[in-house]
Amino acid sequence: MTTESVAPPSSTTEDIPSTVKRLRKTFATGRTRSIEWRRQQLKALERMIVENEAQIADALNQDLGRKPFEAWLADIASTAGEARDAAKNVGKWAKRKQRLLEFSQLPGRGWVEYEPYGVVLVIGAWNFPFALTLGPAVGALAAGNAVVLKPSEVAPASSALMARLVPRYLDTDAVAVVEGDGAVSQELIAQGFDRLCFTGGTEIGRKVYEAAASHLTPVTLELGGKSPVIVAADADIDVAAKRIAFSKLLNSGQICIAPDYVIADASIRDELVDKIRGAVEAFEAGDTSGKRIVNERHFDRLVSSLAATKGTVAVGGGSDASEIKIQPTVVVDPDLDEPLMRDEIFGPILPIVTVANLDEAIDFVNSRPKPLAAYLFTKTKSVRERVIKEVPAGGMLVNHLLFQFTTTKLPFGGVGPSGMGAYHGKFGFEEFSHRKSVLTKTTRPDLSAIIYPPYTDKAWKLARRLF
Ligand code: NAD
Repeated sequence: MTTESVAPPSSTTEDIPSTVKRLRKTFATGRTRSIEWRRQQLKALERMIVENEAQIADALNQDLGRKPFEAWLADIASTAGEARDAAKNVGKWAKRKQRLLEFSQLPGRGWVEYEPYGVVLVIGAWNFPFALTLGPAVGALAAGNAVVLKPSEVAPASSALMARLVPRYLDTDAVAVVEGDGAVSQELIAQGFDRLCFTGGTEIGRKVYEAAASHLTPVTLELGGKSPVIVAADADIDVAAKRIAFSKLLNSGQICIAPDYVIADASIRDELVDKIRGAVEAFEAGDTSGKRIVNERHFDRLVSSLAATKGTVAVGGGSDASEIKIQPTVVVDPDLDEPLMRDEIFGPILPIVTVANLDEAIDFVNSRPKPLAAYLFTKTKSVRERVIKEVPAGGMLVNHLLFQFTTTKLPFGGVGPSGMGAYHGKFGFEEFSHRKSVLTKTTRPDLSAIIYPPYTDKAWKLARRLF
């Protein structure tokens, strides 16, 4: 199962109902429940990513124009790390944890039994095609499920590579890749999975949720939105500028947790803009051709948002339609109703909104939908504590960006329109496990005799004291 020479049954030659039926059959045998099977699959998944690093980097370059270092950092290392961590810890995570019961429940024992849901559907996004398809699969496999993976059709080389590699490394009767677009996703959802994880935009997320509802399929929705960066008056502007620029340039700004826009205190706004300009120039190292966008549709969307801006273009602003590239661009004080401030940007354009103070910054974020990520740059503890307490968000990172995604120690997910549910590390295992309550009782002596009818006053008195 782990060598390239084994010819796998290709899931793409099979129709969707047959694929799901085959996986259901495997799950019913109980094979995927054993901790040993889970460990083997997770180790094989890690091996698949590590052994095929060059092919993965090549696919990411074809789909997204991604540099090999960025391919390694964002898709390869993070996903391999997730799989390694899960393989190491799954035995511990799956262990029964006895709960201390109330006196009235004694004698008896109670615990949570982590039960796999069954067959899980993972629908991935294109911007980190490996991390966002195989990453959720790590949690689903650790939990002992069979899994159907539906990579995004917008990154076709990555999708095709996953379809080729997965059957060569993983249990082909328990893990399948189905390639295709939104219609294929809908056909899959219509099969009535036991659990579903979708990563993508909020509007498509709504459609996925609606389709899943008719089967009562529980969902994890990893959605998008506009993630703000508050730069407070006391922030370390040098470092903030570099980190914001780095995060906005990575993958051409096409990251769900990229800094969507900055809210800058008026006292440091100009210094911040100058230093972001300096950081962009240093990071691009003389290359003014711009950042490659995934496709023409997204390129056109970004260019028209930029053309519509009423703000001041302080950095970049140029684009090249023949290469679908956009220069790293900073727009100062756009109109708050224009597309750049209304829709998720998902590109290398950074609006900067000026505010008078921290109160205004917090009010600004809170007047908008709850973001997937909220960022803050400050050196002051009281500022940090205020923002942590007063700004709701899927996750928060102080004095840096993006790294909340790359730890297995914290849950990653959105809130409200940025999503529901979370994964990574143990949280992924829990997300794809049903927490079955188990209570066991003894039969002799039969202490329940006091609650059996006919009810006497004496029994009632005793019961009132006990329960
Ligand atoms: P998308 O919503 O266009 O597509 C995501 C997936 O949904 C693809 O696999 C696609 O085939 C499928 N799909 C398309 N139409 C569908 C339909 N009608 N029914 C069911 N499935 C359908 O998202 P995208 O363009 O790939 O990614 C960009 C968006 O995803 C951004 O909004 C971004 O913020 C968000 N995102 C979120 C996360 C996260 O972890 N929260 C990560 C990456 C991207």
